Amino acid sequence: ARQFTRPLNDLANQWNTLLSAIAGAERVFEVMDEDEEAADESGAQPIEQVAGKVSFSQVYFSYEQDGDTLEDISFTAEPGEMIALVGPTGAGKTTLIQLLSRFYEHDNGIIAIDDKDINSIRRDSLRSHMAFVLQDSFLFQGSIRDNIAFGRLEATDAEIEAAARLANAHSFIMRLPHGYDERLGIGGDGISQGQKQLLAIARAMLANPSILVLDEATSSIDTVTELKIQEGLQRLMKGRTSFVIAHRLNTIRQADKILVLKDGQLIEQGDHRDLLKRDGFYSKLYYGQLQEQEEESRRSDES
Ligand code: ADP
Repeated sequence: ARQFTRPLNDLANQWNTLLSAIAGAERVFEVMDEDEEAADESGAQPIEQVAGKVSFSQVYFSYEQDGDTLEDISFTAEPGEMIALVGPTGAGKTTLIQLLSRFYEHDNGIIAIDDKDINSIRRDSLRSHMAFVLQDSFLFQGSIRDNIAFGRLEATDAEIEAAARLANAHSFIMRLPHGYDERLGIGGDGISQGQKQLLAIARAMLANPSILVLDEATSSIDTVTELKIQEGLQRLMKGRTSFVIAHRLNTIRQADKILVLKDGQLIEQGDHRDLLKRDGFYSKLYYGQLQEQEEESRRSDES
């Protein structure tokens, strides 16, 4: 892997915070000193239309000299598919996404979008086809309108509102004293965690990318908002290739493909039924979670 200077390493560690600043992903990457990132290959081209096929072929990556963080990763996501990434903390889920968005350069193998090697695509162009909805979605001090428009700066008010409606954000926005002109504080202060998520969905909707990355929230959000978020996400994912760093059983069950990562290796892949039939690591994870969930609901029934 490339050696990064100290400040960039710190940045990389704050990847979630940083990336969440993005819907049209390229904008935030511009915040970083461009010199820090590997230059595009000479002759790298922009990519105009993206159907959303994503493939990894024998991809290897390590942050340091010692040991691979990701080892021999191969899979294909067809356009519009929902791919769930599951596995223990530290397994390499985030890293895999970072390679796809060329936040880091893989060491070996080929990553392709619509069968084009991503190294032959200009990085800014590649990122303009991706949007991120992460746990800690970055909102800035400014109006609700501007926060949504961050997904596509040239959007009209009508387009912003249409995106907010699809994202299920419109109704809460209209209840704010100043509606779309309501000003948020630093980090989106002034609205709830769930409402922040709805705004992040609206922003991604407006950006209208072919490839989507979702990091599911683990923190608890009230049930009504949670349902709104789920519905907004369903609409957002429709027709886009989505990578979901999944924590919820529902999400995982409905994925077209589940990639099970462990210690940097892709140890199982398939849909929910395939993987349960294999009775391997996934099935252990799944039944473990199911049990946890049942115990949790029993506890909340008792209290
Ligand atoms: P997951 O998302 O599945 O929790 P990650 O992709 O974040 O896993 O991490 C995979 C491995 O890479 C872990 O061992 C983690 O400590 C290591 N790692 C993650 N980011 C960095 C970094 N910036 N520098 C060095 N090692 C890292």
